[in-house]
Amino acid sequence: MTTPVASSSQPVQIPAVKGPHANNVVKPKEKKAKAAAAPTHPLELNPPPAFFDHRIKLFEKLKAEYDEWVKVQPRQEIEITLPDGSKRQGKSWETSPMDVAKEISKGLADRIVIAKVNGEVWDLERPLEGSCSLELLDFEHPEGKRVFWHSSAHVLGEAAERHYGCHLCIGPPTDEGFFYEMAIEDRPVTNADYPALEKVSDLAIREKQKFERLVVPKETLLEMFSYNKYKKQLIESKIPDGTSTTVYRCGPMVDLCNSASYFLGDPNNDSLQRIYGISFPDKKQLVEYKKFLEEAAKRDHRKIGKEQELFFFNEQSPGSTFFLPHGTRLYNTLVQLMRVGSLPSLDTSSSDYGYRKNTSRGATRKVSLGPVYLDQGSTLTLDHLVISPNMYNSKLWETSGHWQNYKDDMFTLDVEKEKWALKPMNCPGHCLIFDSRDRSYKELPIRMAEFGIIHRNEASGALTGLTRVRRFVQDDTHVFCMPSQIREEIDALFDFMQHIYGLFGFEFKLELSTRPDNYLGTIETWDEAESQLKQALEAQYPGQWDINPGDGAFYGPKIDITIRDALRRSFQCATIQLDFQLPERFNLKYRSPEDFQSADKPPSRPVIIHRAILGSLERFIAIITEHFAGKWPFWLSPRQVLVVPVAIPYKEYAAEVAAMLSGLGLYADVDNGDNTLPKKIRNGEIAQYNFILVVGQEELDSRSVNVRNRDDVGTKAKTEMVPLDEIAKKLVELRNSRSLKNQFV
Ligand SMILES: [Zn+2]
Repeated sequence: MTTPVASSSQPVQIPAVKGPHANNVVKPKEKKAKAAAAPTHPLELNPPPAFFDHRIKLFEKLKAEYDEWVKVQPRQEIEITLPDGSKRQGKSWETSPMDVAKEISKGLADRIVIAKVNGEVWDLERPLEGSCSLELLDFEHPEGKRVFWHSSAHVLGEAAERHYGCHLCIGPPTDEGFFYEMAIEDRPVTNADYPALEKVSDLAIREKQKFERLVVPKETLLEMFSYNKYKKQLIESKIPDGTSTTVYRCGPMVDLCNSASYFLGDPNNDSLQRIYGISFPDKKQLVEYKKFLEEAAKRDHRKIGKEQELFFFNEQSPGSTFFLPHGTRLYNTLVQLMRVGSLPSLDTSSSDYGYRKNTSRGATRKVSLGPVYLDQGSTLTLDHLVISPNMYNSKLWETSGHWQNYKDDMFTLDVEKEKWALKPMNCPGHCLIFDSRDRSYKELPIRMAEFGIIHRNEASGALTGLTRVRRFVQDDTHVFCMPSQIREEIDALFDFMQHIYGLFGFEFKLELSTRPDNYLGTIETWDEAESQLKQALEAQYPGQWDINPGDGAFYGPKIDITIRDALRRSFQCATIQLDFQLPERFNLKYRSPEDFQSADKPPSRPVIIHRAILGSLERFIAIITEHFAGKWPFWLSPRQVLVVPVAIPYKEYAAEVAAMLSGLGLYADVDNGDNTLPKKIRNGEIAQYNFILVVGQEELDSRSVNVRNRDDVGTKAKTEMVPLDEIAKKLVELRNSRSLKNQFV
C-alpha cells in the first residue's frame, strides 16, 4: 500500500490540472479566457458538505484514542540501520524517520518525501516502533515519486470536495502524475474550474495541513464513508471482514489509502469524471516541466504532420493513416533504408536527369555501410524480402494461438461461411513459407523480411495520431535458425541496429529478459539461447546492458531496446524475440545431420528470431518527427531544396536548377508562383526546406545560385554565390553522408 508524504515535506504544487480525458495540456491563455467567460462558481461551498463534519468527528475521536495508546507504549533505546550500514540511536514510539533525516542534514530533510522501514513504506513523521533498517527516499526515486503523486491526489481530492462537494471515488498515482475520479451531480468538470481547484489546493498546501495517519477497522470505515457509495463499495469489496486499513486526513479531507485499483473503471459505471494533475516538490522542477510540455507541444507530430502536409486521418477509417506525397517520401526513405541497410548513394556524374538513380541492387552493393554490415553478407537485404497474404482463415490463427488469445484485437470477417481475420502480425504467414517444402540444416538460417500491412483492432477512443493506429507496417524480419546460430544472427543485428539508430542520433539501452516460470520448451534450449544472447550483448555492449530475470515471454527470451529522443523521452521500438513456441505449433522441422544416423530421433525444430528495428513505421515516423521537431536531416528530408527566382525573368533558370537537382535524385522544388520574393522565402522556411537557392541576373550570368541554409542564421542574409555544379556536388555529398548536420563538409 502506498502512503502519502508527511506534512513536513516540501509543499505540494498542483499546477497542471488536466481536464477529463484531456490529451493536451491547457495553455495558460486559453485557461484565463475561459475562466473569465465562465459562470462563476464559488471557490468553496459554503456551508461545506455535511459529510465533512461527520467524517472529521469520527476521525478525531479515533485519533485521540490512538494518541493515548501511543503515549503508553514502552520507550526503549532502538538502533536504526541506514542503507550504507551506518547506525543511529533512537527511541521507540518517539523517533521518526524525519528526526533521523534532520540529524543527518537539513538538505536531506528538505528533500525526502517518504521513508521505508524494514522495506515497508513509512510516513516521515510516523514514530519508529523498534530497531529497524531505514531508507529515506526523495522525489527522484521512483517510489518516492509515486508516493508524492499519491499524496498530491489526496490534495486534489480535498480541493474537489471543497469546490464541487463531490463524492470521490479513486485517486491513484500514474506514470505521469495522478488523477482523481469523482461523481459530481450537477455539473461537468470544465477547464474553467482549474483555477479554482489550483487555488484551493494551494490554500491547503499553504495551511501546511498535516497528513495524519490512522488505521481504522472495516465497520468504522463503513460508518465514516456512509455518505459515499463508491467508497463503501471499495471498502466492502477490497477490505476483508474483521480487518482494518489505513486512512489519511489532510485538512477537512479524510480518505482511504487504497491501492490504484480500477475496479470501478467501467465506462458504464455512472458518469464519473476524472481530473488529472501533476505535481513537483520544487518550483524549479515545475518550470522545467512546463517548458518540456511547451516543447513537446511544439513538436507534436500531429501538428507538424499537418503543417508540413505529411499525413492526415479521416473518420471514415479511424486509425489508418493517409500519407500525403511528402509523408510518403519519408516513408519510402525509411523502407529503402531498412531494405538494404543503407540508402543507395546518388551520383553527380549522372547525365540522365529526371529520374532517381542507382536503385538497382548492383549499385547498393557498392555503398559504404559503416559497420561492416553487408560485408558479413548478412541479414536484411533485398534477397530476403517476401510478400505474404493479408487475411487468413481462422484455422491458421488457431494454429498460431492468436484465435484463442488475441481474437478481440483482430479484425475478423466472414468468407464463404468461414471465419477469417486480417493479420495482426506476419510471423504465422512466414511459418507457412518455411513449411512450404522440406528444409535441410544446410539452408539455415532462413531469413524473411516483409513490410507487411498489419491490422489490429484498437478501440477508436484509444487511437492517437501515428502512435496508436489500426493499420500499420513493421520492418519485420523472421530468422529461422538452429539454436547454435543465434549468436551470429544477434551480432549482425546489433551492428545493423547501431548503424540505423546512429543515423537518427538515438541513444539506446538494452535489457535481456530471461526464462519465466511458465516457460515452454526445454531448459537446455533456454540455457543455450540465453547464453548466446548474453555473449552477444557482452561482446558488443560490455557492462552496458541490464537483465530482467524471469521476465521473458513464455515462448522465449527477448532483448528490449529502448531509444531516447531529443527530449529525453524513452521509446521501445526494436525487439529481438526468440521463439520456441511457433515452430512447435506449426510443426516446423529441418533435417539435421543427426537425423541421418537415427531414425526415431524427434524432429529438429528451428528457433525463430522475431525482430524489428524501427518497429511500426507509423509510430517511428511520429517519434522522429518529434525528435527532429520537423527539421529533417538532409538525407531524410522530404523537402531538401527550394529554388526561388528573384523576379519573373529568372523563372526559367530557377526551373532548370530544380530540374537538374531532381535529376540527381534530390527532392528539389521550384517556386515560380505569384508571391513576392520575401513571401516565397518565408514559405520555404516554414515548410522547413533544408536549403533555399535564390537566383537572379547575377546568378543566371554566372550559372550559380545563392544559398540559404535552414539551420544557419548567418546565411539568411544574401551572401556569396556558389556555382551550380559545385552546389550540386555539395548537396549530393551531404545526402550521401547521411549527416545529421545541415552543413556542407
Ligand atoms: Zn514475428
